Amino acid sequence: LTILGIESSCDDTAAAVVRDNEVLSSVVYGQTDLHADFGGVVPEIAARAHAEKLDHCIEEAMQNAGLTLGDLDGIAVTAGPGLIGGVLSGVMCAKGISAATGLPLIGVNHLAGHALTPRLTDQIPYPYLMLLVSGGHCQFLIVEAHDKYQRIGGTIDDAPGEAFDKTARILGLPQPGGPSVEQAAKSGDPKRFKMPRPLLNQPGCDMSFSGLKTAILRARDSVVAEKDGLTVQDQADLCAGFQAAVTDVLTEKTRRAMQLYLDLNPAKRSFAIAGGVAANGTIRDGLMQLCAELETDFVAPPLRLCTDNAAMIAYAGIEMMRAGHRDDLTLSARPRWPLDQRATPMLGSGK
Ligand code: ATP
Ligand code: FE
Repeated sequence: LTILGIESSCDDTAAAVVRDNEVLSSVVYGQTDLHADFGGVVPEIAARAHAEKLDHCIEEAMQNAGLTLGDLDGIAVTAGPGLIGGVLSGVMCAKGISAATGLPLIGVNHLAGHALTPRLTDQIPYPYLMLLVSGGHCQFLIVEAHDKYQRIGGTIDDAPGEAFDKTARILGLPQPGGPSVEQAAKSGDPKRFKMPRPLLNQPGCDMSFSGLKTAILRARDSVVAEKDGLTVQDQADLCAGFQAAVTDVLTEKTRRAMQLYLDLNPAKRSFAIAGGVAANGTIRDGLMQLCAELETDFVAPPLRLCTDNAAMIAYAGIEMMRAGHRDDLTLSARPRWPLDQRATPMLGSGK
């Protein structure tokens, strides 16, 4: 199957063409510069930018793939969860193409896109354990099928990506925070500032990251009070301390999640990560070591497929279409859409 994917749920406008397990093209237009002055993504600005760029983005993806709309078998579009204006822009655009061409339309859950990426890249078999760790989410999922997810734990407050972004903001580093904190941490001493590891010794796979952000804020304030400003080395040490704490929590909780998963599926041993934070080298290394220790396959998609992209949406669409799923022009955009819930969720239900 050859499917065009469209993604516009946050601050990346993306289109991609995927044929079975091959990414024929993948175009991502970021919006970081548009939101730079506001310290976060402004929903109205994001929605407008998506609406302006989608056509061009899709054209470029089709051109790079060397195909025309007539060569496609369907159109997959992120229908949620995300910023509603952006999701709507993508859904309306996909509906327009579907109505004009008669191509089947498939509404994809953005999180399913992230969660199925290891199947696109490595064709790993179900069921596998996934740590989905991104800007807005952090959860352990046993992925049993393209539409069957068992959530066995996750964050009870902030997502790690959010914590990376806030840490960058607190320390005066550029957005998105993940890459800039990782870069700064390279020359830092992770032991100089003691950072908390919330819930580390509590049973279960739940995690908490909001305390970490407060700890960074306090540590920064005490350094600033002492010397009237932050040096580059202070920034680096704070980033290294923060990153080490996140890595410890994710690695230790993954050990617990793996135990649960292996108890349920003793014969299968695959662990995969996805989401933007999975791009972090230190976190990847920590998880890779854990998997080596537990003799479990470790699958980490390439970085460009970890952060938001449309290839993952196209691929999720391929699996859904193979399973006989189709949507029609009544497809609606959902600001919230939990993965571990199969029935159509109501607006306002939890994450
Ligand atoms: P969600 O998928 O939950 O809706 P999102 O789409 O905004 O959220 P992604 O695009 O998957 O999230 O990931 C973006 C997040 O990943 C940002 O918070 C960013 O700081 C973080 N991130 C990107 N690269 C890195 C990195 N190298 N280290 C840590 N975090 C990173
Ligand atoms: Fe995402």
